[in-house]
Amino acid sequence: MGKIVIISGPSGSGKTTVCKLLKQHSNIEESISVTTRSPRINEKDGESYHFVSDARFKEMIKNGEFAEYAEYCGYYYGTPLKALKDAIKREVFYILEIDVQGAMQIKEKFPDAISVFLLPPNRLTLSQRLINRNANKEQDMANRLKIAEKELEYKDKYDYCVVNDDLDATVNTIRKILNLA
Ligand code: ADP
Ligand code: 5GP
Repeated sequence: MGKIVIISGPSGSGKTTVCKLLKQHSNIEESISVTTRSPRINEKDGESYHFVSDARFKEMIKNGEFAEYAEYCGYYYGTPLKALKDAIKREVFYILEIDVQGAMQIKEKFPDAISVFLLPPNRLTLSQRLINRNANKEQDMANRLKIAEKELEYKDKYDYCVVNDDLDATVNTIRKILNLA
């Protein structure tokens, strides 16, 4: 049986970067979420996300196609249920890089899921990383920092908290958590 691994953390904490490195291990796969937000430069449909319209997302909700879904910063994000069920049948760690609302839904439905909350070293570093990434408009970035404060309140509900200071150390810590080190 495969294992679900939830990775959450404020925007800019390093989830995407860390997951990309984790995926280099042959036993680790990552779920591709569905979202109504627009692609960033360098994001490809079907790789980073499945980018869909609002109407299509709502239809997918109605059809029961999501393991969980949530609204974040004015857009919908959801985890496809079928791909998750297929992954559980394989002997893999299946990473869900999702927000705290989605994480709580998955924990409820799949209590065996391993949950990791990624923390920035401090607030200044978080905003600096968001600025450096340069992928969000100013207002969107302000909203994300505001949401970050709320998200941090959820950290104690996770099995593990990992401070993403040195990138290699973070990846090694998570590998150890999964007994892959
Ligand atoms: P998230 O997916 O959580 O929103 P990203 O993975 O996009 O965050 O990371 C935000 C920015 O911070 C990116 O520019 C990334 O290269 C950088 N970053 C991530 N982890 C580290 C780290 N440990 N040290 C320095 N910069 C980092
Ligand atoms: P971003 O727009 O930066 O790619 O993602 C914004 C937030 O949505 C992040 O916290 C990210 O983890 C979360 N997210 C991405 N995919 C999903 C998903 O399928 N479900 C939920 N609930 N959150 C998601």
